[in-house]
Amino acid sequence: MSTRRPSLSWLGEFGLIDELTRLTSPRTSRHVIHSIGDDAAVLRMKPGRDVVFTTDMLVEGVHFNRDWSGARDIGWKAMVSNLSDIAAMNAQPTSAVVAIGVPENTPVAWIKDVYRGFRAAAARYGAPIVGGDTVRSPQSIVISIAMLGEVKRNHAVLRSGARPGDVIIVSGELGRCAAALDALKQSAGVTSLRSPLFRKFHRPLPRFDILESLRKYRVRLTSMIDISDGLVSELHHLATSSSVRCVIDPLLVPFTTALQTYARRQKQSVIEWALHSGEEYELLMTCSPRYLRALGNIDDVTIIGTVVRGEGVVDVSGEELIPRGFKHF
Ligand code: ADP
Ligand code: MG
Repeated sequence: MSTRRPSLSWLGEFGLIDELTRLTSPRTSRHVIHSIGDDAAVLRMKPGRDVVFTTDMLVEGVHFNRDWSGARDIGWKAMVSNLSDIAAMNAQPTSAVVAIGVPENTPVAWIKDVYRGFRAAAARYGAPIVGGDTVRSPQSIVISIAMLGEVKRNHAVLRSGARPGDVIIVSGELGRCAAALDALKQSAGVTSLRSPLFRKFHRPLPRFDILESLRKYRVRLTSMIDISDGLVSELHHLATSSSVRCVIDPLLVPFTTALQTYARRQKQSVIEWALHSGEEYELLMTCSPRYLRALGNIDDVTIIGTVVRGEGVVDVSGEELIPRGFKHF
């Protein structure tokens, strides 16, 4: 058995592309007429559908850190951040392209593991990787994914549709990712990285399951956004885009009891974590109160507030809630 571990300079750009291509999901599907191997992929969209198109870029040292996350987790999360954007439009993913910039000394095995992470997430949600680009980067690793999705014509759910009287709903529970980041920063949690507290940080899930339940109970959303920067920050985006005021009760924001226990031990506020934790990839949604009953049938969604006339984001006592999510600049 050979123990040779090819370096990037030995493989070269095309050698690497060949290796990575082998790690992408099936070459064709009903959407994909021609995949990797030509100047561009050839896709076929169904009639009566609108196309949604998104991209997300991750830079080592800004979005991830090789000491904190394994290669597969980095790949998984990069794909999920795009999948979640597609979900937040009420769409289904159809295909993705992946561009990577890597320093010359990056182990090929590490890059291949990132692709295994990409492939796991992309295949699970039906978004085959149909192309990409591979370049040298002087220092840090850069990962840029672009994703296409489709939605029934005129059924995309925008940030701008919230109306006074609507209820505000959130999927899942919040705060674990902020806790994980906090633990990593004080390098307090390295041994417990595989504990449930950290699972969501490494392996978040896009909430297509919630969209399916909402469709099943015929709940029509008026607006939606995914939680990438933090609940309060996303509420501000909804309020601004819809020209309304969001009123939420912070005590209704869901978190796990495990997180509560951990927060107590760390002398941190679990509610602050839940309100501002980023990279949660939960869905923040609004709909008419006529669906309150239907919402009662759906697991894993919580009503946290209401939409009123005005602007901004406040709690039930009228106190302004200020975003504390990550800002690049
Ligand atoms: P071009 O010179 O036309 O940009 P490339 O040589 O960069 O073509 O890429 C050849 C093929 O391999 C294309 O189909 C491209 O989409 C695909 N490809 C290149 N890099 C990657 C990558 N990192 N992941 C997936 N596919 C890739
Ligand atoms: Mg190229």
